[in-house]
Amino acid sequence: MASSVPVLYGSAKSDTQYASKAHSIEKLLMHKEEEEWDGNFKTRELPVNEKLKKLLSSFFPIDQLSFAFEDRIAYSFGKSSMEILAARLGKLGEPVEAVVFPDYGNIESMIKNLDPRKYELIPVGGTSNVTGALLHSKGKIKLAVSTKNFKRVEFRENYVILGAGYTGLEAESILHEYGFTLGNFPESFEYSTLGGWVATKAIGQESNQYGGMENIIIGVRMIGSAGFFREEFVPRNSEGLDLKTLALGGEGRTGLITDVAFKLYKNPTRRFFNSYFFKNYEEGIKQISKMKFYPSILRLSDEVETSISLDGEFNTPMKKLYEGYLKITGARNGSMLIMVNNSIPSPEIPRKAINAGKYPARQWLEGRYSRPALGNILWKKGMIPDTLETSTTWSNLYNVHKAVQQRFSDQIEKEHAKGIIMSHISHIYSSGACIYFTFVIWREDDQMKLLENVRDVIMNTFIENGCAVSHHHGPGKYLEKYLDEKITPIRKRIYDPLFSED
Ligand SMILES: Cc1cc2nc3c(=O)[nH]c(=O)nc-3n(C[C@H](O)[C@H](O)[C@H](O)COP(=O)(O)OP(=O)(O)OC[C@H]3O[C@@H](n4cnc5c(N)ncnc54)[C@H](O)[C@@H]3O)c2cc1C
Repeated sequence: MASSVPVLYGSAKSDTQYASKAHSIEKLLMHKEEEEWDGNFKTRELPVNEKLKKLLSSFFPIDQLSFAFEDRIAYSFGKSSMEILAARLGKLGEPVEAVVFPDYGNIESMIKNLDPRKYELIPVGGTSNVTGALLHSKGKIKLAVSTKNFKRVEFRENYVILGAGYTGLEAESILHEYGFTLGNFPESFEYSTLGGWVATKAIGQESNQYGGMENIIIGVRMIGSAGFFREEFVPRNSEGLDLKTLALGGEGRTGLITDVAFKLYKNPTRRFFNSYFFKNYEEGIKQISKMKFYPSILRLSDEVETSISLDGEFNTPMKKLYEGYLKITGARNGSMLIMVNNSIPSPEIPRKAINAGKYPARQWLEGRYSRPALGNILWKKGMIPDTLETSTTWSNLYNVHKAVQQRFSDQIEKEHAKGIIMSHISHIYSSGACIYFTFVIWREDDQMKLLENVRDVIMNTFIENGCAVSHHHGPGKYLEKYLDEKITPIRKRIYDPLFSED
């Protein structure tokens, strides 16, 4: 029997809101009409490993176990462009043999009874990673371990312990009742889980105020093949390479995180938000680098991203007024800055920023979790949207932007393809910032090769320019090869045998 499994991010949500923006991108790419893809991976039923079924039934009741092929596929892949494209082409790789849904009561007995030479456990949260982090090489019998039953809330003094299986949205809704926030708001906040955040060393949109996962958590509860690690929630330690270090960025290979202890912050009661324009991106970067205090969110778009935002998302009757105003102030085709701060009065405003009012900032804030729907429309129309992000020092940021733009255009020409690329800077530090590239490419044939080559060119430009392999998405399977080759064997030595390939 054939079946289809949804592969796009948040595929249950409506994406019509971004239709006009998608249309502007389509026009830019001069993309030819194709039959729309429905966003599903079509698959045949997979054989069931009966011996494994018998073994797992000895640890779990039937409702905590699944051999259904829809589940096996849904829990085996993330939301990277490589995986989505493979699904669109009908070529997704090997799924796991089973999905288990353990809870606090039965996780330990399963782990202690599985032979690490034969079995491999892959922790799975919201499957929102964009790096192929759930892909493991062939060899052992692979089981996906869903964290959805790890849910508990325990307030202690001024911190809280939360089950790793909560999504960001669920966790914030609980804390909201008590007037608290965790302060981590990734764009994937509605689907990604607390355990996934730690394992990928994620960061949220308000990081200028709260920091990344390494700043937000005070500890984890985690289980490896030898059982639970000793619980320790302290403000700081000097224990060398400790449990928190193993968990942060462990990408499921160092064990399963069952709980996370978070610092608690008071919910903001009032918010400042406003938008500005700079005459160009270079000027914007320069002025922002000179600021002394950064608001909770600061996001500067390059000229292409600014123009697409104005043409699509902010395409309202207000747009004409804006355009006139911006022309007078000399900032049309300029670079848009969104600033949001979790308190009033307003934060420091960078020099040479032209006030563009509240409207774009408000629009951006309202759409902060729904914007990925745009990518879904592009995928369905046959295009290939993707993102790659890095971080670098202030003096290098604009150079990296220009270098990536140039190498991207050269590659697109070489490939006889169509493509656009844009970037923004966000996640601001005194020493520099994250620069986040979004690109959309298209060619009629050999699309996988095109995507691989374009990604490779961008990644090599990052490395040649001394940038990070990733600022917050993690290396996963796809970016592992760009890490310093001397680091990889060291990392492998600390992986847990039951949670890794070797
Ligand atoms: C539209 C979109 C927007 C995004 N925006 C952001 C953003 O703003 N900031 C950001 O940092 N990232 C972002 N991401 C990337 C992604 O959401 C993060 O990497 C997120 O932390 C993954 O969490 P998850 O629960 O979905 O993990 P999964 O995708 O399920 O797993 C990711 C990795 O973590 C491991 N893992 C998951 N749970 C556990 C656990 N309990 N114990 C041990 N290992 C575990 C898995 O084995 C895997 O290696 C975005 C992704 C998408 C699709």
